[in-house]
Amino acid sequence: MDITAKTAGELHDLLVQKEITSTELTHAFLDRVRRLEGQVQAYVTVTDKSALKRAAEVDAKIARGEAIGTLEGIPMALKDNMCTEGIRTTCSSKMLEEFVPPYSAEVAIRLQEAGAILLGKLNMDEFAMGSSTENSRFFPTHNPWDLERVPGGSSGGAAASVAAAEAVYALGSDTGGSIRQPAAFCGVVGMKPTYGAVSRYGLIAFASSLDQIGPLTKDVRDNALVMNAIAGHDRKDSTSVRFDKPDYTQFLGKNIKGLKIGIPREYFGEGIDSDVAKVIWDAVAALKDLGAEAEECSLPHTDYAMPAYYLIAPAECSSNLARYDGVRYGYRAEGDDLISMVRKTRAEGFGPEVKRRIMLGTYALSSGYYDAYYVKAQKVRTLIKQDFDQAFGTYDVLLSPTAPTVAFKFGEKSSNPLSMYLSDICTVPVNLAGIPGISIPAGFVGGLPVGLHLMGKAFDEGTLYQVAYAFEQHTGFHKVKPSTKEVAAHGLE
Ligand code: GLN
Repeated sequence: MDITAKTAGELHDLLVQKEITSTELTHAFLDRVRRLEGQVQAYVTVTDKSALKRAAEVDAKIARGEAIGTLEGIPMALKDNMCTEGIRTTCSSKMLEEFVPPYSAEVAIRLQEAGAILLGKLNMDEFAMGSSTENSRFFPTHNPWDLERVPGGSSGGAAASVAAAEAVYALGSDTGGSIRQPAAFCGVVGMKPTYGAVSRYGLIAFASSLDQIGPLTKDVRDNALVMNAIAGHDRKDSTSVRFDKPDYTQFLGKNIKGLKIGIPREYFGEGIDSDVAKVIWDAVAALKDLGAEAEECSLPHTDYAMPAYYLIAPAECSSNLARYDGVRYGYRAEGDDLISMVRKTRAEGFGPEVKRRIMLGTYALSSGYYDAYYVKAQKVRTLIKQDFDQAFGTYDVLLSPTAPTVAFKFGEKSSNPLSMYLSDICTVPVNLAGIPGISIPAGFVGGLPVGLHLMGKAFDEGTLYQVAYAFEQHTGFHKVKPSTKEVAAHGLE
């Protein structure tokens, strides 16, 4: 039995039935990490000792005959922008390479309380800026489906770790698509929850009005289980919302007969690969077979989403990243006086994409340009949100590809920031509107996974899980794993 291939739901049953122990499970994952990391490079830090200690504690609990929670004793990992007390948290940046937080992110605390076994911290684009994980200051992560290709980003380490079964599940963060696009590229399930549904306390800020944490998992059920553990109000995050948190698993297995799906035609425009579009139209047919009603609709301001995002996100990042000055914490370069020390610290501590964003954002916020750029972008953001409000007057969910293409090769887009930015064309509007979006495996083009993107009403993650689960059970794409042929060719197995 290959226990690393199993979902959290399946592993929970095996733990309860005493077929395996959490220690065996943790060893199995650590062994796999040791074997595969040379090629995949999903982890920045592996916390093997504390993982085994936690696993032993869970085993002792089981041996005493105590009941365990659904995620208890199950190995997982966190994107390296979520603070973990006593464990280095780098944001894949030289600036935070040696940073050991004195506190943990709320999501890390909630998972720890749920008995999760933290295997380590996952690679990402520096400060979550990017779509390929090539912007990590340490090393790029490789796509387990084809090691010559990117895993997507910025949560590339998170998606690759789950796809390569180096963790049962992972948490990522999504500012413009960073959970969903890598989930699509790596053939896993990725949920970007409603803004305010999951606490951002202890998430190292990129663009605070857009950032959300969410789960990357092997299947839809696991995704709902992890959401159960992490979602809900947190008084430590002032943007966290008090809402009636449902048990997200209650939506699994509900049929989707008569459910109304809108397909915004703007999401199938220029730049969307025709083979990817074909997979998505096949998905629409599958959903219709299941009884859903689907028709084309329009979100007329979609074209303005990318320009608005690339003003708002850099503006917020320029403000958030001002704190890295070499004085308080993080990297510090030597200088002759304060100004030269700060200047050198920031010049050496940040990589080129982060600097580009800080410059763009500072410009957009500067006096004289503020109204022309930043305020205008905020107005556009309202129009985009109104498009969604209107569409959700008619439809229960909206559907699109997650990304315009399948995973691309290393270097293919890194020399052209604009073409890299366009990877998120289908996901960015969802962050601007604050609504939830999920990517689920929907098929393949040239042996590489394609993601189906479902968008929902605010705080209606439940309906997304309902549709996603029905589709997953009907099609079974989540069961196809990175081909052992590819993995074997690179000496991984
Ligand atoms: N790729 C987008 C960007 O670079 C989104 C990143 C994200 O969601 N963190 O900004």
